[in-house]
Amino acid sequence: MTIHAAPATTLDSIKRSLVALRMSRALEVLDATVGRIEQGEIDGIAALDQLLIEELTVRESRRIKTALTLGRLTTVKTLAGFDFTFQPSLDRNRIMALAELKFVDHAEVVHLLGPPGTGKSHLATALAVEAVKAGKSVYFATLADIITSLATAEREGQLRQRLRYLCRAALLVVDEIGYLPVIQGGGNLFFQLVNARYEKGAMILTSNRGFAEWGEVFGDPVVATALLDRLLHHAIVIQIEGSSYRLRQHADLVPDHLRPKAHMTPPAPKRRGRPPGKRTDDPSTG
Ligand code: ADP
Ligand code: MG
Repeated sequence: MTIHAAPATTLDSIKRSLVALRMSRALEVLDATVGRIEQGEIDGIAALDQLLIEELTVRESRRIKTALTLGRLTTVKTLAGFDFTFQPSLDRNRIMALAELKFVDHAEVVHLLGPPGTGKSHLATALAVEAVKAGKSVYFATLADIITSLATAEREGQLRQRLRYLCRAALLVVDEIGYLPVIQGGGNLFFQLVNARYEKGAMILTSNRGFAEWGEVFGDPVVATALLDRLLHHAIVIQIEGSSYRLRQHADLVPDHLRPKAHMTPPAPKRRGRPPGKRTDDPSTG
């Protein structure tokens, strides 16, 4: 400490306050910050500002981490990490407008439709991450997970509680509608959830199937019609028509003579739109 060191008693008092206030990050950087004041690097006001920003930043990242875990957003995807040039059919501005999250406040439904690998789950996750950052509660699950959990709850006489739980999040993401057949009675259970959230909470739904196929997806045209009635009111429908990003990544592994239109180019070229004459289904489920 230099000659101008702050009196130890005052510093001790500040430390005691920070401990009592559970401001552990501020406590950690206190000595260094005081040191910088003493060196004449910053003044008292700037030091106070820095100390509080440090504490706030650490708390904010902790809050986001917890909210992501609670919301089951285990694989974090971002809008910044989405290559819009790979999906020219997708209007970047529409996605960026969604990232402003008005649809969450208005309890609207966003449908992301498109073939496997076109980035539906990526975009749904990225929007959900934006919502978490903005302090909104989010829950992410596949349709199959949601229906299984509702069916289990029903068997255990806990359906009402489970529905209430799934209504708590301001934004519910239901991923992968249409990949797996819905179990008997599943459509009915999902309808109860959709009905409970209707005009109360926002949803993002992803599907590789058109709405006309929902009767088949849910194994019941009556339930499908009732579902779509709610899910298409106050809805934003985004259709992605492009090729699989996953296949693009695997394209280098495919021998040249098997490629649809073999180019002797370096690995993973940035292709615009779908490769000519090819519409291969992704081997893995989306
Ligand atoms: P879908 O849900 O439509 O089947 P995903 O969102 O799971 O597809 O995308 C498959 C993989 O490719 C993911 O790892 C995703 O992050 C990545 N991906 C898809 N589209 C893009 C893109 N345009 N830019 C960057 N990564 C992408
Ligand atoms: Mg997916």
